[in-house]
Amino acid sequence: MKQLKVDAIRNGTVIDHITAGKVLKVADILNLQGMDLVMIGMNLASKKLGKKDILKIENRELSGEEVNSIALIAPNASLIIIKDYNVVKKVHLKIPEYIENLIVCPNPKCITSLEEIKSKFQITSGKPVKVRCVYCEKKYSIDEVRIRI
Ligand SMILES: [Zn+2]
Repeated sequence: MKQLKVDAIRNGTVIDHITAGKVLKVADILNLQGMDLVMIGMNLASKKLGKKDILKIENRELSGEEVNSIALIAPNASLIIIKDYNVVKKVHLKIPEYIENLIVCPNPKCITSLEEIKSKFQITSGKPVKVRCVYCEKKYSIDEVRIRI
């Protein structure tokens, strides 16, 4: 299959090498507004991954929390910052060891569900991503939890 070309953007952020099928979840996390110019590529050929998704967002830089959330659902992704059509920065996302406040613990008896306490999860496995609630110690795969921004 030939590599599809997705239009270049002038200024903004490209998230490349998103695990195929996960781009809409990434877009969800970024809560993209109608005003953002967004280009989505799905199931593109990738030497590294076989298939990949890609997301380009014009005039937008991501916060550290957003980057951490994306790393959880697309651990192979790389982040490319574009200025005036040039790549000014490229980073491979890294899954942090702990993640605070972004994951909602699904356990209704967990203290973070009952009280106003920031959640804290330990990442116990990278591929696929698995997490453990530091408070109630329950383990979940990343697809079982809700990620908030
Ligand atoms: Zn918990």
